[in-house]
Amino acid sequence: MINSSPMDNALTKQNIIKKASSDLGNLIVLSGPSGVGKGTVIRKLLTLLPKVIRSTSVTTRPIREGEVEDIDYFYKTKAEFEALIEANAFLEWAQYADNYYGTLKDFVWEKQQLGLDVILEIEVQGAKQVKEIKNDIILIFISPPDFPTLESRLRSRATDSPSSIESRLKTARIELASRLMFDYEVINEDLDEATQDLLHIVKAQRLKIIKG
Ligand code: 5GP
Repeated sequence: MINSSPMDNALTKQNIIKKASSDLGNLIVLSGPSGVGKGTVIRKLLTLLPKVIRSTSVTTRPIREGEVEDIDYFYKTKAEFEALIEANAFLEWAQYADNYYGTLKDFVWEKQQLGLDVILEIEVQGAKQVKEIKNDIILIFISPPDFPTLESRLRSRATDSPSSIESRLKTARIELASRLMFDYEVINEDLDEATQDLLHIVKAQRLKIIKG
């Protein structure tokens, strides 16, 4: 019979801890100003990396051309959204450019339990709320290379009204000032490079040994 050494015991214990933690998918918050390309980077990541999904949020803003209901968002009326707030259904929610946006607790938890890493593509107020209630999350901020690039991307997108674009640009300045509360910053100058940066962060988190 082979006696196990203290080292073996330690390794076994470590493996158990690691196994238990890796059964549950990670929660990743991806924030950054509107127009910075969060959605595009995430869509690209999903084609490259298995076992990761983007959370579908609830919003009161109208559906945009090209968006798919229940995939891009769950589209609700203001009254329906407020009923969900009352029912404590949200992990976080915020008002942004005159509309409500929120992440459903159940949606995220169900996916994490399936072992999937869940990415929340949300604005900064929501990221702050998640940071306050969960300490085992990764906070990633996507920045534009510079403000004029962000402005021209937002204006050329042509999916929002002129007043919504102005409101988004005003909020973008405030959001850019909050980047220091995040764990990582990815600069979206080149889509492939930004996607690779995000991929490495998500993969590194999967390899992390969670203690205690
Ligand atoms: P858009 O109208 O361009 O789809 O989204 C406007 C902003 O709301 C974006 O910064 C987007 O990331 C953010 N957003 C989308 N879903 C949520 C959510 O569930 N919670 C919060 N706090 N922000 C969200």
